[in-house]
Amino acid sequence: AISHPSAIYGKGRLAAEGWDLTDPRDLARIEEGRTPFAEHRWSAGDADTGTPREITNPARPEDVVGTVFEASADAVKDAVARGVAAQPGWAATPVAERADILRRIADLYEANAPEIFALCTREAGKSLFDGVAEIREAVDFLRYYANQAPRAEKDSEARGLIACISPWNFPLAIFTGQIAAALATGNAVIAKPAEQTPLIAARAVQMMHEAGLPEDVIQLMPGDGPNVGAPLTADPRIAGVCFTGSTEVAKLIDRQLADTAPDAMLIAETGGMNAMIVDSTALPEQAVRDILASSFQSAGQRCSALRILYVQRDVEERVLDMLYGGMEALGMGDPWNLSTDVGPVIDAEARDGILSYCEEMEGKGRLLKQLEAPEGSDGLFVPPHVFRVSGIEEMEREIFGPVLHVARFDADEIDDVVAAVNAKGYGLTFGLHTRIDGRVQQVVDGIHVGNLYVNRNQIGAVVGSQPFGGEGLSGTGPKAGGPLYLTRFRKPKSEPSDP
Ligand code: GLU
Repeated sequence: AISHPSAIYGKGRLAAEGWDLTDPRDLARIEEGRTPFAEHRWSAGDADTGTPREITNPARPEDVVGTVFEASADAVKDAVARGVAAQPGWAATPVAERADILRRIADLYEANAPEIFALCTREAGKSLFDGVAEIREAVDFLRYYANQAPRAEKDSEARGLIACISPWNFPLAIFTGQIAAALATGNAVIAKPAEQTPLIAARAVQMMHEAGLPEDVIQLMPGDGPNVGAPLTADPRIAGVCFTGSTEVAKLIDRQLADTAPDAMLIAETGGMNAMIVDSTALPEQAVRDILASSFQSAGQRCSALRILYVQRDVEERVLDMLYGGMEALGMGDPWNLSTDVGPVIDAEARDGILSYCEEMEGKGRLLKQLEAPEGSDGLFVPPHVFRVSGIEEMEREIFGPVLHVARFDADEIDDVVAAVNAKGYGLTFGLHTRIDGRVQQVVDGIHVGNLYVNRNQIGAVVGSQPFGGEGLSGTGPKAGGPLYLTRFRKPKSEPSDP
């Protein structure tokens, strides 16, 4: 029997994604994907020249998902030469044809969805919900950019060869979004997936080639930052870099480009120190559901995730009591189980870093609430934690895991909270729960963030309707999944002149 996932993220959301866990046909589709691939060994990269490394399942380290053959600096150089040579032919392909190929990739992703679920679960530790959303978002990026591409053509030309460097937390969606934007606009791509998730990337590139993309127009170079990312971004033949990851690495890339390819474009989507305000007029049941999703879904491994909750003093006790109750209802464990809400974190380094931060906070007497790790598992689990802080000023860095901080405020302190969040320098997502219209306007006017969400959770931006990206230390813009994104991948052909 398959237990229903916790009521918190339950049926509604999956139904919205077009899946229904109570429908035996959908369950069969998912199982059909999972079962055969549970034993399947995957590989990525060039087995003749690459350096092999095993990829293991973060929920079950004894499960070897496959082998990646990581590229060398020489292989990167060759790939750049091939990409540069192939790009003009791709740019000369009519935009309608390029767009159709993207649509074919989307169809292939959908047709192979059960298999991709299995890989997302095993390689990235994604829960079923996150796996569904991952495929949905990747497909949305492909179709959205395919539709937008003709508009971006006007008075402009493709840039050339773009390096796409993507993160492990959206190993298919962000990986695909970057590539789709670059390809739609007539550029060739070298994609460097995160070193933790090269297998999903390799399977995706296989489908891209199957859909009709020439081999050298999209090339995969698996490996880590120092061995692949650095030589790639240092190559003067690169016309642009599309990067999602840490603010530190984005700065390194920016400096590198300034040295070697000053007219190259850079799009960086980086971290956040995201806050939410819950005031005394908020509906506590709704706020708590949204706090849970924003902080603990995907084990908090989203740059959009909620890191610090500001709750108004008068309702604090009530909201926190409900929050702790909701936390107790979260299912934590192997994402292979349909009842899991919170899966593992990505690797041992991440787990150790988050846990040592938690110990430090506990040592300072800040612990408010903590769940227990699943018993008898050697998976890389970090149980959700809640800590007391006085405000965002105290927080030194983004903790990329299921860790929520709570601060309190009084009714006349809204502007102070907004100012403190702005002063931190990041500006990605912000959540507001209130039923006072004037307060919504007050926060809208004051806060500097890319994505502000009112009376809902603050994760899972939807391509096309919620363009996603931050300001300040959180990124360069333009926002992914929005109407301006593609324009950055083209350069103006001629300056307009006065009539
Ligand atoms: N777009 C994702 C969201 O809205 C976050 C992307 C990221 O974590 O890089 O939750």
